Amino acid sequence: MGIEETVERIKDQVQLREQRRKEIEKREGVGMDKPYSMKRTLYSCSKCRDTSWLLIDGKARRCGCYEIKRLKRIWEKSGISLEQKEMTFKSFNAYSKEIKNAKDTATKYYINYKVIKDSRNNSIVFLGQVGSGKTHLSIALAINFINKEIPVIYMPYRDVIMNIKQNILDSIYYRKTIERYQKAEILLIDDLYKGKITESDINILFEIINYRYLNNKAIIVSSERSIDEILRIDEGIGSRIYEMCKGYLVEIRGKGNNYRVRG
Ligand SMILES: [Zn+2]
Repeated sequence: MGIEETVERIKDQVQLREQRRKEIEKREGVGMDKPYSMKRTLYSCSKCRDTSWLLIDGKARRCGCYEIKRLKRIWEKSGISLEQKEMTFKSFNAYSKEIKNAKDTATKYYINYKVIKDSRNNSIVFLGQVGSGKTHLSIALAINFINKEIPVIYMPYRDVIMNIKQNILDSIYYRKTIERYQKAEILLIDDLYKGKITESDINILFEIINYRYLNNKAIIVSSERSIDEILRIDEGIGSRIYEMCKGYLVEIRGKGNNYRVRG
């Protein structure tokens, strides 16, 4: 299909949506005399009015919401709904000074991301035991980024490594999968080094981490291991993670979620 045809088709689509909007407005009694905010709720995206296309200087462009909807579906396949209210910053219970520090570091990272994103020190790591809030904070970060149309790919460490190993002989699948984790704008590695670690696990992880390190691509990492353990397991991977995350390194240690924040 030629570009003009595509543009025509989109114009038709936009017109059709507009018509449908007017019908809904008429039926629901939301008209020109009603505040804009009320009308806006008729669409999940007010920019493209749910067509997923924008016309910019007569050229058809995908609206930012298109990629975000695709991402949300991928996250849902991993069992995490981005529409949920449980794992947001707002719902995070900062019950002690230390836990509040962890939350503050996460929000500081979120605010600074646009400035630091192309630098080497553009990443964040949450280390601590089960129930320390590290998963909550890393997912809250992802939700905030995605809602700002900054794509975050979710990588549940153990499941992904197992899956890649099972398909290691299928070189096309292998490349495609690795590339997805190498090239994502932000990669969230959940539960790094969970379970037994083999040499091939290390090789796969190195391919991903090294690419992101060399290309200054951000990672959000959560792990039950300490930074010393991460360095001991593999120095090449550990030192790169440390260098990327050292400005935003949250460690939650000991009983009663006693943790410290290094900066
Ligand atoms: Zn849109």
